[in-house]
Amino acid sequence: MFDKILIANRGEIALRVLRACKELGIATVAVHSTADADAMHVRLADESVCIGPPPSKDSYLNVPALLAACEITGADAVHPGYGFLSENARFAEILSDHNLHFIGPKAEHIRLMGDKIEAKKTAKRLGIPVVPGSDGGVGPDDDAMAIAQEIGFPVLVKAAAGGGGRGMKVAHTADDLALAISTAGNEAKAAFGDASVYLEKYLQKPRHIEIQVLGDGRGGAIHLGERDCSLQRRHQKVWEESPSPVISPEARARIGGICAKAMQDMQYLGVGTIEFLYEDGEFYFIEMNTRIQVEHPVTEMITGIDLVLEQIRIAAGGDLPVTQDEITLNGHAIECRVNAENPVTFRPSPGKISRYHPPGGLGIRIDSAVYQGYTIPPYYDSLVGKLIVHGKTRGECLMRLRRALDEMVVDGIETTLPLFRALVREPSIIDGDYHIHWLEQYLASGDPAG
Ligand code: ADP
Repeated sequence: MFDKILIANRGEIALRVLRACKELGIATVAVHSTADADAMHVRLADESVCIGPPPSKDSYLNVPALLAACEITGADAVHPGYGFLSENARFAEILSDHNLHFIGPKAEHIRLMGDKIEAKKTAKRLGIPVVPGSDGGVGPDDDAMAIAQEIGFPVLVKAAAGGGGRGMKVAHTADDLALAISTAGNEAKAAFGDASVYLEKYLQKPRHIEIQVLGDGRGGAIHLGERDCSLQRRHQKVWEESPSPVISPEARARIGGICAKAMQDMQYLGVGTIEFLYEDGEFYFIEMNTRIQVEHPVTEMITGIDLVLEQIRIAAGGDLPVTQDEITLNGHAIECRVNAENPVTFRPSPGKISRYHPPGGLGIRIDSAVYQGYTIPPYYDSLVGKLIVHGKTRGECLMRLRRALDEMVVDGIETTLPLFRALVREPSIIDGDYHIHWLEQYLASGDPAG
């Protein structure tokens, strides 16, 4: 096992990792920018190192500063959290070159899945169903129109290096195609430095269903069921639940089995998420995330498995915590990502939290790094915290969530709490009857949170 882990992240995920380390008896090192000197992860860690000024590129993405922090503190492993350097294969290799462990998958798998075109080819080869589309990138010499017509409009132009919903454009008809390709390409070039794009059939009313996997890196791998992340705004997840209201035990076993088998064949190491769109009973692979995800707690709540703790144990050479047959899914869990944003315009609302009262009671979990008097800095994501609720049934979970949302107080800044209070009372949500475009249509239809 590791002696000391440096957590190369901030906010709630840094705290989440810190908690797992404490339970395992591993010493922790927090790193922080000058803007985060008062952050909770810094206060709770055994040691902390300032790694630079506020902009992420100068601090949380500053590899030389992180290496120096490892050296100064004698950390022997680095947990990257999500975002920042978590899916940077080069970072994993650099750590390894310095005799430091990267708590995450093998660099070759991060690299493979980070290129969405290669990821899709790999998925197909491993027997995972994919969205119909171009077989690879669409270059200037390819006849994009012929490919699009074969797929059938509408088509989605996606960036190979895409992430966070950027570099994606829909072409509803043949007339839109050229513009969609150049816009997506330019956006991807600006954001990721790589303009390559590919084409995919644009699904009209799918759900976003993702499978959590865990592999030991030696050919052992299991799946932990699905999460339904269909409630999205601008391709960003807002509300996640497990199990999905629309996935039957048979469908779960089928797609979960395919994913676990694929991870066994790859000899995948650590936690991962295989993302699908689901429409008319069919699953279509869109991408794989080779890291812990924001929404991992809903899976933890229904499986009782601490994914971050297992991620650390497996990275240190440990075995999988359970066999596939030993996993039982218990009840229902929902996560709301409460952001510091205006609930109608979604304009970020950083600032000082003057009053804070997190809800409590049976089945309530808050993963957050804020406290009363804390100032949310303007430089990073706007997550205030994740409210995760568990119940024996989806009905009980919704009932508890409604109560918890009404109880939660975050004053001094604007938050998306009013939006969640409205959503939890919406008939379509209560019925589990929604798809990936539902939330945007709902938001466009009026002033639901006002
Ligand atoms: P990113 O890496 O930017 O998050 P993804 O490939 O995971 O990109 O897609 C993000 C979201 O975009 C999906 O959850 C879904 O809402 C939408 N999306 C992606 N592919 C398609 C598709 N072929 N048809 C319709 N919507 C899609």
